[in-house]
Amino acid sequence: MNITASILYNYTQCPHRVWRDIYGPQEEKIQEPNPFVQLLWDKGVQFEQEVISKTGEFIDLSKGELSDRNLRTMEAMKDGKELIYQGVIKHAQFLGIPDFLKRLEDEKYMPVEIKAGKAYQNGSEEEENKPKKHYAVQLCLYVEILKSLGFAKENIGAIIDIEMNETPYMLDRMMGPRAHKTWWEYYEEVKAEAIALVANDKQNYPANSAVCKLCPWSVSCKKWCNESEDLTNLFYLGRNTRDIIRADLDILTTKDLCGLDIGRAMELKKQNKTILKGIGEGLLRKLIARANVVVNTKKPVLYEKLDLPKVPIELFFDIESDPTQDLVYLHGVYERRADEEKFIYFLAKDNSGQSEKDAWQRFWDYIRTLGEGDYAIYYYSPYEKTTYKKMSKKYFDVISEDEVAQFFASSNAIDLYRIVQAKTDWPLSSYSIKDIATYLGFKWRDENPSGALSIQWYNEYIASKDENILKRIIEYNEDDCKAMVILKDKLVEYSELMEYE
Ligand code: SF4
Repeated sequence: MNITASILYNYTQCPHRVWRDIYGPQEEKIQEPNPFVQLLWDKGVQFEQEVISKTGEFIDLSKGELSDRNLRTMEAMKDGKELIYQGVIKHAQFLGIPDFLKRLEDEKYMPVEIKAGKAYQNGSEEEENKPKKHYAVQLCLYVEILKSLGFAKENIGAIIDIEMNETPYMLDRMMGPRAHKTWWEYYEEVKAEAIALVANDKQNYPANSAVCKLCPWSVSCKKWCNESEDLTNLFYLGRNTRDIIRADLDILTTKDLCGLDIGRAMELKKQNKTILKGIGEGLLRKLIARANVVVNTKKPVLYEKLDLPKVPIELFFDIESDPTQDLVYLHGVYERRADEEKFIYFLAKDNSGQSEKDAWQRFWDYIRTLGEGDYAIYYYSPYEKTTYKKMSKKYFDVISEDEVAQFFASSNAIDLYRIVQAKTDWPLSSYSIKDIATYLGFKWRDENPSGALSIQWYNEYIASKDENILKRIIEYNEDDCKAMVILKDKLVEYSELMEYE
């Protein structure tokens, strides 16, 4: 079987996917394409066409049998053609179809990929933006094939991004300021793993993780995780930690973890510094407590009393955004006062920057009508805060960066997810607002609520202006806000109960 860019991409998303695609129980694989994945695909194709239509002369090798396209690609490169679209390159078991092969001054070629997204991923607060792993490995694969064929010397490629800018990818550079390897070394590792998995020389396990939601194996892998009582059924215990605990302590299930002797584990770690890498006593204690909630008590726990603001107005707020367009299209607020509750929303009625800005302006106009200190604002996860920070840079005439920072720094701005993460445990594998509120008995009006689907609906609404679709988007957002009300009230209830224990 050929090693292709899509195999390497799958590996970067989930190391198990490569093996499961070939050797997994095919009857358990979901056949219908995920609508959000389909949306991303369609947008990618549409954007590629747009780029192509604005590109000057090129040789189009996008049609025909792969073997024939491969022959014609080789001829085109031997003839020194400037730009080749969708050529097929192959060497040994490696196969690539770069969007463009661009001739360089030294007669060699460089792969260029068209991506309907940003060329680099946003860095953390301290780190700069950096190349995306899946783009880098894809370009490395193409460069390696070109080098084997004698058509490349340097480890470089490029991405044409959503702004239609060409951004170089220097693949011999370190992956980041604190990284210990270059992009090329990372690629070599990914490639070696993918080859072993494809050949079935190596097997690995599924893991319960966020990426599973968009994967056709989601049901199948979840079933495996449940039946195996896998450690990744515990919130925040990911694949790497699971693999280390399995290998170093021979703990395979959540039940086993409940009985772990921490003293013995720490003694082993002291004797052999290579085991339990990155896992300390504190984390083990936390995971054992969590395992006990999932396996034994099966009841939520609040570990610390809460001191939430007592104010006349509570706002529960949630935003909807479309990362494929870098657009925030909805700001929803569920406003609760002693005598009144209502949902207010601020919508970008089209996907233009002006419409996004207007909605953002209206949100802040609303906030400014409330007396400072009279209200508390609740949200779930740091996403709202980081998105608003970015928006304040984009629309600095609406509100300054400092004002947004102050708004979130206030003791009346509360990220409920932080409380959930630090001070509670639930008999659930995910602590998303959907899972927790559903556990608490809340029901979304939509049969199939998800942020990814909301993006799909918004795109459909933009195309059709169908008010029913808009209603669905707004109701979904309102229910997300109401779910936070349920959670907040339950946390307060648990906190008050602690006083009497
Ligand atoms: S469902 Fe999850 S674990 Fe399974 S292959 Fe997909 S991403 Fe990997």
